Amino acid sequence: MPVPTYVILRELRRLHLRRFQDPIDESLRGWNWDRPPVKPRAYLGLTVSEVASYCITRRDVWLRRIAKAIPEGNEVLKLGSLTHDVIHTTIEYVRKYVANDSDALSAYDDVVSGVLKAVTIPEQISGWVVNLVKHIALQLLAEASWSAVGDGISPWIPWISEVRVDGSLIGLSKNLRVDALTGSNIVVDFKLARPSENHKIAVAAYAMALESNLEVPIDYALIIYINGLEKAPRISIESIYLSSDVRKEFIDARDDIIDMIITEREPPKANTCSASCPFKNYCR
Ligand code: SF4
Repeated sequence: MPVPTYVILRELRRLHLRRFQDPIDESLRGWNWDRPPVKPRAYLGLTVSEVASYCITRRDVWLRRIAKAIPEGNEVLKLGSLTHDVIHTTIEYVRKYVANDSDALSAYDDVVSGVLKAVTIPEQISGWVVNLVKHIALQLLAEASWSAVGDGISPWIPWISEVRVDGSLIGLSKNLRVDALTGSNIVVDFKLARPSENHKIAVAAYAMALESNLEVPIDYALIIYINGLEKAPRISIESIYLSSDVRKEFIDARDDIIDMIITEREPPKANTCSASCPFKNYCR
């Protein structure tokens, strides 16, 4: 996949050890949605980006929900959306070729040209996006080709991308969308950003929403960071053990947001704001 299987297997071995040393408190599983602490105080259909907001004071949530401010689009948000679109489309094209038993390596040109026709790419970043598509397609097809060589269980277990999940049982939106889910139930989130603590809350939210729907444990997540915007795409991963502590952080963040919305309490402006915040004109 966009990350080689051997890297994922190496990370999994490390995560298994962490789980052994610090087992997850079963009361913090998503399937315990009908009792505290997983049961929310109110069902407000929160999005994951609200619970795991980039705004340190969560003022963006107040602006959107209470002040009814309209977020303003900007280039960073558009690029984030385009990148997700490109990754999803590339994974789907490769899945199609692999399902048809096409020769993985000869499919490369078709996949790249198909994806580039399917997505609309702004001229000024076309070189970067083309490189991203090539990188992902090559990675995916190399994995598929390698797995076709051996016998037995294929190490190339396709990811499902853009998985819809109903988060309403744990107070989230009915229409959550997980970037990808691996064959071994690892939540995958793609980020066009620098690593941040709130990204862990986001993957915990997705995992617990999946647990509340599927009644199966989701213990791990991978956050795939795509950076290097000034040159070629640079991909790195952070593997996350969805421990009791991370789950509690999600529950606390969710409950704080619910309290803020119910009481309509206005949070202060943050001391440092992201340049790409779509509400920056409201907070001047
Ligand atoms: S401009 Fe700053 S304080 Fe206002 S919502 Fe954005 S990050 Fe928060």
